[in-house]
Amino acid sequence: MIITMKNKATKAEIEEILELVNKHGLKALPIHGDDYRVFGIVGDTSKLDIEMINAYSCVDNVLRVSTPFKKVSRTFHPENTIIKVGNLEIGGNKVVMIGGPCSIEGKDQIVRIAHGIKENGGDAIRGGAYKPRTSPYAFQGLATEGILNMVEARNQTGLPIVTEIMDASKIDEFVKHVDIIQVGARNMQNFELLKALGKIDKPILLKRGLANTIEEWLMSAEYIMAGGNNKVILCERGIRTFEKYTRNTLDLSVIPLVKKLSHLPIVIDPSHATGKADLVESMCLAAVAAGADGLIIEAHYDPRKAWSDASQTITLEAFGKIKEKCKKIAEVIGREM
Ligand code: PEP
Ligand code: MN
Repeated sequence: MIITMKNKATKAEIEEILELVNKHGLKALPIHGDDYRVFGIVGDTSKLDIEMINAYSCVDNVLRVSTPFKKVSRTFHPENTIIKVGNLEIGGNKVVMIGGPCSIEGKDQIVRIAHGIKENGGDAIRGGAYKPRTSPYAFQGLATEGILNMVEARNQTGLPIVTEIMDASKIDEFVKHVDIIQVGARNMQNFELLKALGKIDKPILLKRGLANTIEEWLMSAEYIMAGGNNKVILCERGIRTFEKYTRNTLDLSVIPLVKKLSHLPIVIDPSHATGKADLVESMCLAAVAAGADGLIIEAHYDPRKAWSDASQTITLEAFGKIKEKCKKIAEVIGREM
């Protein structure tokens, strides 16, 4: 961190700032020019509040030179994190494919889709039981019944299950039944939920918020890891822009960027990112080429009849074709699929 003091700052004012820095166990190294007074702050500055220092009238500027996230950062953990879910590894050399409906609509539906995902090369099943719908009148999900239906789908196929949590009060249910707990875009900054998930030993798939920066997203991952749960999988699902042809704008540049900043695995959700079934395949190919560790795709045996997100849902056959094509891309970049 670099603190620049105003020219007219008095000795007493500067000392007040230096005392504050010392109180946090940090060292201030002075760099004195003719018309400036700059201090380089060394040590763990993550607990130092920039806003608070900026509030002093003698301070001209405060600049963070290191990242505010620590446990998430590749600087402190150079190797890739590989998250194990049964026999499945996320973040290793193999690119994983997760597929399933937006919403669980009943036992027969999720079991049939799970078999279809398995037959078409999928590694895990997704499906929502607690749905974050924009309208309170839209289908809200089958809740516990949906979770139990998914458990049946896992029992029959052996594939791990991914489903979204919306409230910390349901953590026990998720810990008991679910393999990977999804935190949806709308809850990315539900800090109490993140803190509660930090205390459990389950992989968390953390989606990027609708309008959140990469740093805010990584800070949310830091919340989970700060509590002791290191099993975080990042998921880019598109962000809001001015563009209306697509539901969101898929930010594929986050893949190499996040790989540089963090050791955590990253998966791409092309379904919510585009909102359009016919764009899903191209975005999957591009995501694998860019280095994604996995894909999470909405698929259904009859997309037109899906109870939610029908227009972005692909068929099970299309899921299989995407897998075959992505496999070729993966081979080109030295990965498996
Ligand atoms: C979902 O995965 O069904 C979902 C609601 O995703 P998101 O939080 O990305 O909108
Ligand atoms: Mn959906």
